[in-house]
Amino acid sequence: MASVAIDGPAGAGKSTIAKLVAKELNAIYVDTGAMYRAIAIYFLRNRLDPEIPEQVAEACEQIEVTITYEDGNQQVWLNGENVTPFLRTEEVGDMASRSSAKQAVRDKLLQLQRDLASSHKVVMDGRDIGTHVLPEAEVKIYLTASSAERARRRYEELTARGEICDLAEIEQAIIERDQQDMSRTIAPLKQAEDACYLDSSDLTIPEVVAWILEKCEEAAI
Ligand code: C5P
Repeated sequence: MASVAIDGPAGAGKSTIAKLVAKELNAIYVDTGAMYRAIAIYFLRNRLDPEIPEQVAEACEQIEVTITYEDGNQQVWLNGENVTPFLRTEEVGDMASRSSAKQAVRDKLLQLQRDLASSHKVVMDGRDIGTHVLPEAEVKIYLTASSAERARRRYEELTARGEICDLAEIEQAIIERDQQDMSRTIAPLKQAEDACYLDSSDLTIPEVVAWILEKCEEAAI
């Protein structure tokens, strides 16, 4: 099955863009960050420390992550519970960044991700999709934006939800997450050699979607 891999740092707009591209291509959107976030919830709820190998091994033994789709929206299940509503907090994102740096955690999700891509046309986003999960993906995109722009977008998203937040703090958290994801030894975030680089700082969502769809057309997807 044909695959589009979209990698990039936190807040680059990957999920918004990937969802729209998937719709246009009649493909399913696979949010791999959500899978890592589900595992992070297990770590947080059980007060496990990703720096303690025995605790990571124990967690990986106990965890079962599955994916379903409701009206085209991905739902993530952790040991039979739909945890989708709890995934998008700063605390969960930070724990996901720490626990996903562990090989056992990555091994846990790799097969699930590859199975989805072998049975469906997918637009999959994450950090290592083009480099590791789907090295044969027909289209690979590395989507980024400046940290200031990513912080501004996140600030707007949070204030629209009525949350009180501080722009400088958000940008600092983004810079730290980038650092954590890019410098780790296992599956660091980096652009695949054959990925198309796109900086969306000055582009609108429709412009980014159109740019990616053009690449898909060139690849006959
Ligand atoms: O994309 P999102 O912010 O939901 O991802 C949360 C964290 O999960 C990232 O900061 C990253 O550390 C990790 N992740 C990963 N590999 C992926 C997707 C996400 O390591 N394919």
